[in-house]
Amino acid sequence: MIIGTVRERKTHEYRVGLTPESARELVLAGHEVLVESGAGEGIGADDRAYGAVGAQVVVTAEEVFARADMIVKVKEPDPEERAMLREGQILYAYLHLAPDPDQARDLMASGAVCIAYETVTDAAGGLPLLRPMSQVAGRMAIQAGATALQKEHGGRGVLLGGVPGVSPAKVAILGGGVVGFNAAQMAAGLGADVTILDRSPEALERLALHFEARAKTRFSNQANLAESVAEADLVIGAVLIPGAAAPRLVSRAMLGTMRRGAVLVDVAIDQGGCFETSRPTTHADPTFLVDGIVHYCVANMPGAVARTSTYALNNVTLPHALRIANLGWKEAMRTDPHLLDGLNVWDGKITYPAVARALGLPC
Ligand code: NAD
Repeated sequence: MIIGTVRERKTHEYRVGLTPESARELVLAGHEVLVESGAGEGIGADDRAYGAVGAQVVVTAEEVFARADMIVKVKEPDPEERAMLREGQILYAYLHLAPDPDQARDLMASGAVCIAYETVTDAAGGLPLLRPMSQVAGRMAIQAGATALQKEHGGRGVLLGGVPGVSPAKVAILGGGVVGFNAAQMAAGLGADVTILDRSPEALERLALHFEARAKTRFSNQANLAESVAEADLVIGAVLIPGAAAPRLVSRAMLGTMRRGAVLVDVAIDQGGCFETSRPTTHADPTFLVDGIVHYCVANMPGAVARTSTYALNNVTLPHALRIANLGWKEAMRTDPHLLDGLNVWDGKITYPAVARALGLPC
């Protein structure tokens, strides 16, 4: 099979669909790999790095789209890329079609086979191709929060781990799933005083067993939330109710109970945010102040660490890409129902029920 990857076109999107190492695996399996010149620049992989593993570097995205049987990307294709897709061609990328009827219409019209990273499942019922980005965002949340706590960013001038003789900062993590767990690991590793709140007994038990004395766990109810938020130097918003907007756990009134210069990092901002006062920000201007409380609400946190994020993503996307290339997409999906869950568009139709429902289309 001919597999192609192109330079991502979204503003400040530095990740790439295939690393040189992934290209090498595909070449070693007997496939041909086409790479648009400059596609790997954002992760520090130049054209020579791809050439060295046997991939063919071509000048334009048009050539990649014209020749490849499968396009491996990170983000959904833009309108120009959608126009280059052709019948039977495989598109393997994050698509997020439910809120995007224009993209859905174009992908249906193209006749391409569109596999969305975000709906591929695993045996445990999880979403393994989303997981690494939550891991990255959870870990970054503590870095971002630590920076925002510095005076020059409006923070209260507190070092997360303290120093001998001075207490560490208090970190409250709302939601103990993938983001929350990874944030807790970083915060505890730095020596902060960590409390994780969740309302799932199973999550609380898992966290308590893992962290033992390095982090406290609390059931997430109004009283516990109010107390933990009021005491915290840093609050991480990491809740998720699948398929729904994030619950607003911290009201504007609660900001008044916090210390001036405390920091809120709303990782759940991509689902609307879990603080009443959150609004999406960018890496170029990540924070703002409300009532003296610093808010960090970047919706695409993993983009800032494009290299780590790309490698983490490739670790989970490559095995499926290899099976699709080796077996063809139909056989790969017939023998792996979890990959079949990733099929969103085929034969001019939406094939994923939740996406079809959201768009009001037949499935
Ligand atoms: P997850 O499903 O693994 O964990 C969510 C947790 O929230 C679960 O343990 C659940 O029990 C808990 N929860 C639900 N309601 C709660 C409540 N009222 N109080 C306390 N806990 C509650 O999800 P995740 O992968 O950790 O993702 C968390 C959020 O981060 C999602 O909205 C996701 O989209 C977002 N995210 C954002 C970025 C970014 O760049 N900003 C990157 C990755 C993920």
